[in-house]
Amino acid sequence: MKPRYCLRLAAFCLGCASASVQAADALLPATMMTAAERSDYVRTSTFAEVIAVLDALQAQSELLHRERLLLTREGRDVPIVVLADPPVTSPEQAQASEKPVIYIQGNIHGGEVEGKEAALILMRDILFGDKQHLLANQILVFVPIYNADGNDAMADDNRPNQEYSPLMTGVRTAHGLDLNRDGMIIEADETRALMRNVIQRWDPDLFVDLHTTNGTWHGYSLTYAPSYHTAGDPTTSEFTSDVLLPTIAQAVQDKFALDFGWYGGFDYRDWPPTELRTYHHAPRYLTNQMALRNRMAILSETFSHDRFYKRVHAANVFIEEILEFTHVHGQEIRRLNRAADARTAQQTVGAEKGVAFTMVPREEPLDLLSYRYIPFAAEDGTTDFARSSELVVIEGVANYNAFEPIRTAAFPSAYVFSSAFAGLADKLAQHGIHVGQLEADTTFTGQVYDVTGIAKQDYQLNGHSNSLLQGEFRSVSRTYSRGDYIVDMSNRLANLIFYLLEPESDDGLAFWNAFDEILEPALDARGDAEYPIFKVL
Ligand SMILES: [Zn+2]
Repeated sequence: MKPRYCLRLAAFCLGCASASVQAADALLPATMMTAAERSDYVRTSTFAEVIAVLDALQAQSELLHRERLLLTREGRDVPIVVLADPPVTSPEQAQASEKPVIYIQGNIHGGEVEGKEAALILMRDILFGDKQHLLANQILVFVPIYNADGNDAMADDNRPNQEYSPLMTGVRTAHGLDLNRDGMIIEADETRALMRNVIQRWDPDLFVDLHTTNGTWHGYSLTYAPSYHTAGDPTTSEFTSDVLLPTIAQAVQDKFALDFGWYGGFDYRDWPPTELRTYHHAPRYLTNQMALRNRMAILSETFSHDRFYKRVHAANVFIEEILEFTHVHGQEIRRLNRAADARTAQQTVGAEKGVAFTMVPREEPLDLLSYRYIPFAAEDGTTDFARSSELVVIEGVANYNAFEPIRTAAFPSAYVFSSAFAGLADKLAQHGIHVGQLEADTTFTGQVYDVTGIAKQDYQLNGHSNSLLQGEFRSVSRTYSRGDYIVDMSNRLANLIFYLLEPESDDGLAFWNAFDEILEPALDARGDAEYPIFKVL
C-alpha cells in the first residue's frame, strides 16, 4: 500500500475573525506542486510540467489510472487521467461500479490556462488532501491539457485580455483549428481522439469544459452555461440550468464569497444594460453537443481580467463544487440521462423538430453584477464611456441564455444513402453512430430534398465558408441496393444524427461543406440538385 498524505487546510469560515489552519501530517513533495504555484503565478505549466505533476501523483497513489488521449502532431503523448476508489482501469469496471462518470477538461483553447492548473490542484486535493470523499460515489476522468500543442506554443502576446498574468500563454488553436468549433465535422486529431477515447469509451454523465472569457467586464469571478437545449431531449439541459448551476453558484457564494453567474456579454454603450446575451447554441461547441447525446455539460469561463491566481482559484472551487454536487446527486444525473436515452430512442416518426435556432431570454430575468460605466462627453462631441472600479447590481436584466427553433423538419425512422458515400459512413462512425448496410434491395417511402441554392456564410469557421442549403422536401418512394447505408433512428444518438444529417440543419454536415462537391456542379449545370440522403418516413 502506497502512503497517503493527509493534509487538512484552512477550515475557512467567512463569519470568523480569522481562518484557522491546521498543521499538515506530512508535507507535499515539491514535485506535486504546479508550475503556477511554484512560480507565484508568474508562469503557467508547460505540457512537460503537467506530466511531471501527474507522474508525482501517480507514484504515490493506486487510485490514479492513466491512458492515452492521443499522440499529437508534435509528438506530445496527451493523457487521460482516471481517479476512482476502488481504482478502475477500464470502462467496463466503471460501468460495473454503477457510479456516474464525471469528465473535466482543461486548456481546449491553449491560452486559457487556469483549468489546466485547477484540475491538477483538484486531483492532488482528492488523492492527498481534504477531498478524498469525492471518490466515494463517482468516477472522475480528467484531461487537464487537451490542446497540448497549442499550450506549448507560448508567447507573451497571445492573450492580451489576460494582461500578462501569467506572463506567457499558449495559442487558442491546435495547428490552426479551433478545437471548440470542430465537434460536428471532426477534423482535428484531438476531436477524433476525444470522441473515441473519452466520449465513446468512458461515456461521461457530465462534461465540464474549462475556459477563460475574452474580455467582457462583468463583475463575476466565473460565468457558466449549460449544454443548450436544441433538438435534444430537454431534461438534461433543464436540470443543469435550473438545479445544478444555481446550487453551485450558491455554494461558492456561501463558502468562498465568490460571485458566479450566467455566461454572456452586453454592450456598455447602452448603459445600464437591459440584456445579457450568451454565445451560440450550435453543437460544434463540445458542451452543446452533449445535450444531443443525452448527457449533461457545463461551460466554465473564468474572468480574463482577474489576476491569474484568482482565476485558478475560481476554476478550482467551481470544479470542486461541481464534484461536491455530483457526489450527492450523481445517481439522479445518471437516471435523468438514461431516461433521456430511452425517450430519444422512441420518438414519433414525422414529428417536427428544430434544425435552426435563435437566442431567446430565459423566463426569469437576472440581477447582473457589473463594473459601472460612466458616460462622458468626448472631445469630438460624442458620448464615450469610462469603466469605473465600482461593482454594481443591475436588476431585471433579460437573460438571453436559451434557444428556440426558427426552422423545423420531420423526424424520420431512418436515413438511407448510397454505398458510394463511404466517407460519410466513416464520419458518422467517428461520432459513435451505428451505420448499417442493406442486406437486400429495399424500397422505402419518405422524402428527398431538392436543393435550389446554397447560401455561403460570409465568415470563416476553421477555414470553412459554411453552406446553408435552400430547397424543398418532396415525398417519393425510392429503391436502394444491397450494401447501401442505413442509419436507424431508434437509438439514443438519434437527436445527434438528426442534427448532423438534416439538409437545413444550421450545424450539420451539409453546413460543414460535406456535400458541396456534388451539389454545386449539379446546381451550376441544371439549377437544382438532390441532397444525397433519403429520409424514411
Ligand atoms: Zn475558450
